[in-house]
Amino acid sequence: MLLRMSTMLLRTLREEPAEAEVPSHRLLLRAGYIRRAAPGGYTWLPLGKLVLDRITAIVRAEMTAIGGQEVSFPALLPREPYDVSGRWTDYGDDLFTLKDRRGAELLLAPTHEEMFALLVRDMTSSYRDFPLILFQVQTKFRDEARPRAGLLRGREFLMKDAYSFDLSDAGLADSYARHREAYQRIFARLGLSHTIVAAMSGAMGGSASEEFLALADVGEDTFVACTTCDYAANTEAVVTPVPAVAQREHPPLTVHDTPATPTITALVELANEQALDGRTDWSAADTLKNVVVTVHHPGREDSLLVVGVPGDREVDLKRLDAALSPATVTLFDDFAARPDLVRGYLGPQGLALRYLADPRVAPGTAWLTGANQPGKHATSVVAGRDFTPDGTVEAAEVRAGDPCPACGSGELAVRRGIEIGHIFQLGRRYTEAFAVDVLGADGKPVRPTMGSYGVGVSRAVAAVAEQHHDERGLLWPDEVAPADVHVVAAGKDGQLGTAEALSAELVSRGLRVLLDDRQQLSAGVKFTDAELIGVRRIVVVGRRLAEGYAEIRDRRTGERHDVPVTDVVRVMTE
Ligand code: ATP
Ligand code: MG
Repeated sequence: MLLRMSTMLLRTLREEPAEAEVPSHRLLLRAGYIRRAAPGGYTWLPLGKLVLDRITAIVRAEMTAIGGQEVSFPALLPREPYDVSGRWTDYGDDLFTLKDRRGAELLLAPTHEEMFALLVRDMTSSYRDFPLILFQVQTKFRDEARPRAGLLRGREFLMKDAYSFDLSDAGLADSYARHREAYQRIFARLGLSHTIVAAMSGAMGGSASEEFLALADVGEDTFVACTTCDYAANTEAVVTPVPAVAQREHPPLTVHDTPATPTITALVELANEQALDGRTDWSAADTLKNVVVTVHHPGREDSLLVVGVPGDREVDLKRLDAALSPATVTLFDDFAARPDLVRGYLGPQGLALRYLADPRVAPGTAWLTGANQPGKHATSVVAGRDFTPDGTVEAAEVRAGDPCPACGSGELAVRRGIEIGHIFQLGRRYTEAFAVDVLGADGKPVRPTMGSYGVGVSRAVAAVAEQHHDERGLLWPDEVAPADVHVVAAGKDGQLGTAEALSAELVSRGLRVLLDDRQQLSAGVKFTDAELIGVRRIVVVGRRLAEGYAEIRDRRTGERHDVPVTDVVRVMTE
């Protein structure tokens, strides 16, 4: 493959594109890999398409290696199967829906569990057809609330989705393990350093689930890792250990005048000034903060919910969302409409709304919290005595230094990552919904159990760029680079002729060559572009050609050395 820059649809940008917030997005735009075409939708330019196809090929090869068979479904699908599974409603606002000219309702698939379950129902009949792994590499559509960072969160994106079908739980565990290993190989080949974390399964349903997070500061996922054991989890999936509470007699609940203390800071200050309950060691952790949220249930009316967390922690809406999925939440602030809810002075005692508390608000714990009257708080408000939550909820922020829920002795470190893959053991949710039954070895019907496994293929392009760049441009790992060698003809005439000949020779040896044969541009511009584009090995045919030399540059290490032109092909193919 020879790519000539003189004829390629390519325009590199010197200026920082205003629309880009993160390095990968900025550099992919600047280096001419992608262009924005729609809100949350990108055009792959020739260079970008090459990288996307390289990544797709790696994913496909590793899926085939574990016995996956590739199929391809339409993205435009009828409503019916998604009604049967409940996801027409449960998927919520993220689902793109539309009507055809006859008024029939359709959707643009966000993922394809339903269709795969139906396919297997229709095309298999006996235990001999299993286990089965099917996958596709296909465009998905999601009406994301916040498309951002270019390819990282699009409304239209490329995903590899795979589905396993087994007849036993042990079979499912085995298929899951095989995907897990395939994913480790895929991401190693992509040069993505990543962590596998325990995950929530979200709108998909099911149980065991892990995410592959590429480490990156710009990532939207926050995860924790234990500093002593191997526990790692998405913060959404962190289960707070319930503290051991010494059961003892508490003094009765006492209401205090605490004027002008609608915030935890003001309250703690005043509690210490006034030595409430004879104490001057009040801290935010002694207070119970009660936050009102509106819960949006897909397909049903909104409801109000109060969430109680220790006052030294914020409510993490992402964690709360995950805990209440498929419902979503927003902070409630229309207190004018609800005079019974005394803003800044809410307490769980006698509250007429559904109340969920952090696991730390365990029975027997006593709190300083609102008295449900303006300017008043109460002390010795005891969980299980003065109020009983309707349940617990994982809504409090997870912080660095929190105790590890797995080993108990270690501390949690908090990091950020980009979700590049997600694997989970779905179980029989979909095979039950579609009554998928096959004949077992004993002549009785068996219901297959499913796994579902996704890789964000287009997102991976950005994730690789995020991990492999410097201030001058992209720095692709060899396996995903758009070319194996970037040949630069620094000047015209003889230099161009030699560069052409070298390129032809390299191509004949099976290398993919990007040749900068643009005649009107200076050598400096070409070098800058080469660094921006980010192919690791650069061959410059320049000034020293007169003495028979070309220069070989390594974009990653910055090393440069002159070699006789006659040796270039040998060096490049060694
Ligand atoms: P996220 O939490 O980032 O929204 P998700 O949990 O919705 O991801 P899955 O439904 O598990 O994602 O989809 C499988 C993979 O598809 C993800 O691991 C991710 O790599 C990719 N992906 C999901 N949403 C997007 C998107 N909007 N743009 C690009 N890639 C995406
Ligand atoms: Mg999502």
